[in-house]
Amino acid sequence: MSEHTIAVIGGDGIGPEVIAEGLRVLEAVAEPCGIELATEHFPWGCGYYLEHGSMMPEDGIEHLADFDAIYLGAVGMPEKVPEHVAVRGLVLAIRFGFDQYANVRPVRPLAGAPYPLSSPPPDNVDFVVVREATEGMYCGLGGRYAPSAPEVAGLLDMRPAFPCSAEIALQTGVFSEVGCRRVIEFAFGLAEERDGKRRVTSATKANAMNYAMTMWNEIFDEVAAQHPSVEAEWQNVDAMAMRFVTAPDHYGVVVAPNLFGDILTDLSAALLGGLGFAPGANLSERGPSMFEPCHGSAPDIAGRGIANPVAAILTLAMMLEGLGEGQAARAVEVGVRDVVAAGRVRTPDMGGDASTTDMGEAIAAAAAQGAEDG
Ligand code: NAD
Ligand code: MN
Repeated sequence: MSEHTIAVIGGDGIGPEVIAEGLRVLEAVAEPCGIELATEHFPWGCGYYLEHGSMMPEDGIEHLADFDAIYLGAVGMPEKVPEHVAVRGLVLAIRFGFDQYANVRPVRPLAGAPYPLSSPPPDNVDFVVVREATEGMYCGLGGRYAPSAPEVAGLLDMRPAFPCSAEIALQTGVFSEVGCRRVIEFAFGLAEERDGKRRVTSATKANAMNYAMTMWNEIFDEVAAQHPSVEAEWQNVDAMAMRFVTAPDHYGVVVAPNLFGDILTDLSAALLGGLGFAPGANLSERGPSMFEPCHGSAPDIAGRGIANPVAAILTLAMMLEGLGEGQAARAVEVGVRDVVAAGRVRTPDMGGDASTTDMGEAIAAAAAQGAEDG
């Protein structure tokens, strides 16, 4: 018996709905795979904020520190809680707090899932986006200023439109050499391990972002030179967005700064059939990693029991893999693959009318069977 402790944060909207199905699948594979689990639920998120004035307790990070992994749904209640408070106050606080720098988001379309392209065929698409998740444009540095403020006075000459502006906001990106290098190294390491294409493509934009992306590119070239067995190339992120649609079969591993990776992975979710199919992991080397699907709290469908739990369940498989439970991870992946391919249980995003729970139960049964068969 191996033992693992897992902190569960369902969050808001569809977060708790899909996480419940992930936990159902986890329970189904745990026993046959000889895994003992201690899960603890943390009721943090926007509901907690409305009651306590913060997304989690002040010592929230300390509460999580001793767990082997964190399993998170999503947060956000845009009608009631300011957007920057919700996501910064919990998701980003945890990513930054535990230095979860590698946000790994695989893009492998499943047979039976909606696929939007006439070519290439979905079988040819198999890549993974590694998004830097602890710095870049999401650091929260900057401010909002009157044009007369000393902080922005020096910018006025540079941009003549400023004087007639009522307000100027600065949003500062932070790109550290260590932060860029470690995520790029991670991407090359992944490319070396993968069965798929041994190619790393860097998402960049040095033509406009002259300091940060120039440094990123130099570091990328250095790391690439240390990994001669991996093909290395860069693309400007705007052109890459187009190629994600026209030639997604080109990619093996994509490495991207925080903001670019965030946008690219919602785009690549479309190749999977939508955000209901897109899993993710935020990996740390010095604290618990956090496993969370790419999607948010989906207020437009929350509370109706129709969210697709596949993203959260594939995220669970990534968590099991991260915990060293490869057999259980495989059973979950195969369970998902079989249920989606069979097409008997389909949530509304797949054109069916199955509920979140129907889908979770079907996958739990398939995964348990797979786990028992070994
Ligand atoms: P979203 O990902 O919540 O939803 C985008 C679209 O995808 C919606 O139409 C939604 O219905 C659909 N969708 C998402 N997940 C689905 C699923 N599992 N099954 C079926 N359909 C699904 O993005 P949004 O609408 O931009 O954001 C909603 C809230 O979530 C906001 O408050 C936002 O800040 C927050 N958010 C949080 C996280 C996070 O916690 N990590 C990530 C992204 C957005
Ligand atoms: Mn996102």
